Formats: sequence, structure tokens, C-alpha cells
Amino acid sequence: MTRAYLALGGNVGDVAQAFRMSLATLRAHDHVNVLQESPIYRTPPWGVTEQPDFLNMVAEIETDLSAHDLLDLCLEIERASGRVREQRWGPRTIDLDVIAYGDEIISDARLSVPHPHAHERAFVLAPLADIAPDMMIAGKRVRDWLAQVDASGLHRL
Ligand code: ADP
Ligand code: MG
Repeated sequence: MTRAYLALGGNVGDVAQAFRMSLATLRAHDHVNVLQESPIYRTPPWGVTEQPDFLNMVAEIETDLSAHDLLDLCLEIERASGRVREQRWGPRTIDLDVIAYGDEIISDARLSVPHPHAHERAFVLAPLADIAPDMMIAGKRVRDWLAQVDASGLHRL
């Protein structure tokens, strides 16, 4: 089994419900155990700022799926929750990203882990620090990365 971290985010429709559905799908999956769920945060939009606030959270799982099969499961859950891919960084019902997969480093056309931007994004770091403060990303602890980014504007629900 490999320990992995998934980041959930969204800002269209009933996002909390989409999170519950996603987590239920993960919990019911034969090859996934959900170990921890962070609190949900309300966060200001990133990138394209003229759009509604996001909700974000992270989950710690263990799985015997390969990293690419885990990515496919995430994309399948996004599709099942009705995500339509339009504008990059634009509004979405739910985005499900693989933040880390064990301590593997993968960078190919479909998958980059650790997620190349996780350590710059308060909306990933804050919930991740709640459940895995000492996890290492890009050579530094999650709690130390969090101390370096602007986490003002994030509200834990
Ligand atoms: P973003 O998450 O950057 O807003 P998308 O969710 O639209 O963008 O993802 C686009 C593509 O990013 C996915 O189809 C997937 O192949 C690729 N990708 C690369 N690395 C990852 C990762 N660690 N987690 C999720 N998707 C990833
Ligand atoms: Mg994504």
C-alpha cells in the first residue's frame, strides 16, 4: 500500500456535497482506504480572480493502485460530479489532484507528483498542514511551506 494525498477543490454548485460524494466513492473503492480528511476551507480564487470563492480540502489515503490509476480514478470522480473542463483555472464543480504518491517523483505527460504547485498554494498547504504537518514536499515540511505563503483570506469552516 502506498500513502497518497489528494487535494479537492471547487467553486460551482454544491461543492461540499461534491466533496462528500467524492470521499464516499473513495471510501467505497476496493483499492483505496481513506485515512484522514482535513477540515474544509473557504479560499479566495487563485489565478483567475473574477470568480466565486473556492472550497478546498485534502485527504490522506492508502492505495495499491498505481499512481496513474489513482489519477484516472480522480478524473473519473471529477467526471461523475459533472465537471466540464472549460477555462484553465476557471470555475469548476470539483478538481481532484494527486498532491503526493508515496515519495515517488513522477513527471510525464499525464502526471506530475509531487504536484508542482502544491507547496506554493495556501489552499493546499493549510488543509494539508492540519493532517500532515511534517510531510515533506520539495525538500521542506508542509508546516514550513505554509509559514511562507500568504494564507490570509483562508477561512476554516
Ligand atoms: P488543474 O488541476 O491544474 O486546475 P486540471 O484539473 O484541468 O488542471 O488537470 C489537467 C490535467 O493535469 C489532468 O488531465 C492530468 O493529466 C494532469 N495532471 C498532472 N499532474 C497531476 C496531478 N498531480 N494531479 C492531477 N492531475 C494532474
Ligand atoms: Mg486538477
